Amino acid sequence: MKITGKTRVTGLIGWPVAHSLSPVMHNAAFEHLGLDFCYVPFAVKDEYLDVALKAIPVLNIVGLNVTIPHKERVLPYLSEIAKEAAIIGAVNTIKVIDNRLIGYNTDGTGFTASLTEAGYPVQGRNILIIGGGGSAKAVIFQCAIEGEKKIIISNRTVHKAVIIKEQMGKYFSSVEIKVIGTGYNELKDIMDKTDIVVNATSVGLKMEDPSPIPTDLLHEGLFICDLIYNPPTTALIRHAKGSGIPCMNGTGMLLHQGAASFKLWTGIEPPIEVMRQSLEDALKKIQETSKR
Ligand code: NAP
Repeated sequence: MKITGKTRVTGLIGWPVAHSLSPVMHNAAFEHLGLDFCYVPFAVKDEYLDVALKAIPVLNIVGLNVTIPHKERVLPYLSEIAKEAAIIGAVNTIKVIDNRLIGYNTDGTGFTASLTEAGYPVQGRNILIIGGGGSAKAVIFQCAIEGEKKIIISNRTVHKAVIIKEQMGKYFSSVEIKVIGTGYNELKDIMDKTDIVVNATSVGLKMEDPSPIPTDLLHEGLFICDLIYNPPTTALIRHAKGSGIPCMNGTGMLLHQGAASFKLWTGIEPPIEVMRQSLEDALKKIQETSKR
């Protein structure tokens, strides 16, 4: 990749960002298309968020992805917020137009695009989302907007899931949202009627983490989706594979949310297969290194 005097800058703002695979994926896409763009990680601590966001238009940055812990904190700095990001209450993509910051959230479409690609579109399926954080909200919003009628949220902190139910209820009156905790019996009661399980918690990020769903509750006819992509095989994914249940990790969501951001910044159709390959190569390298 050549940086020229005209190179247009995109990137990622968060803390930490060193683990992110987004630079690999976006730079592979820019290089493949011969676009004079680059994607740079910006590790920005909380106390510098204000100055960093004010600098974006000054530095002629085209746009940024936003990650933990800033997805919600950037909202007051935006001149405009797209509908999905306003309802979700979190932004993962900023585009600069005429020195104004516009906020979007591509996590939800990234999620449903990855499910559709795997052959399990959400429509007409009973979906259980475990988690009540930013990614769970994006997934719930997108399922609702794509016509899902029944959604169950299971979260450790039940009142957070109740707030999500109330928020979503304001916009999607025809969607039935049920809230449960994470106890065995609560999960057991709804598992028979569940078609898709989504782990939207951070349980699984550490190799030693347990599965958020007891293995004996997994049954034929389920599709399991873990939003975690690193490590690529969480306990949930391992148990699903061991029980012969189709499953996928979060690589597809990462790919499709990134592809949507790419399109927002460049206006050009993203080279999905190039981006996918770059992610798979990077994850393979991480796995090989962690085995050493
Ligand atoms: P978040 O806003 O911090 O939410 C974390 C969630 O995990 C909360 O629901 C929290 O429950 C739950 N949790 C944390 N520790 C737990 C524990 N020990 N037991 C039970 N529940 C626990 O995080 P997020 O942004 O939603 O991200 C969640 C996961 O999605 C992360 O693993 C992230 O890597 C992944 N993700 C993937 C993509 C992708 O592109 N593939 C995109 C975004 C996020 P409480 O509410 O009770 O605290």
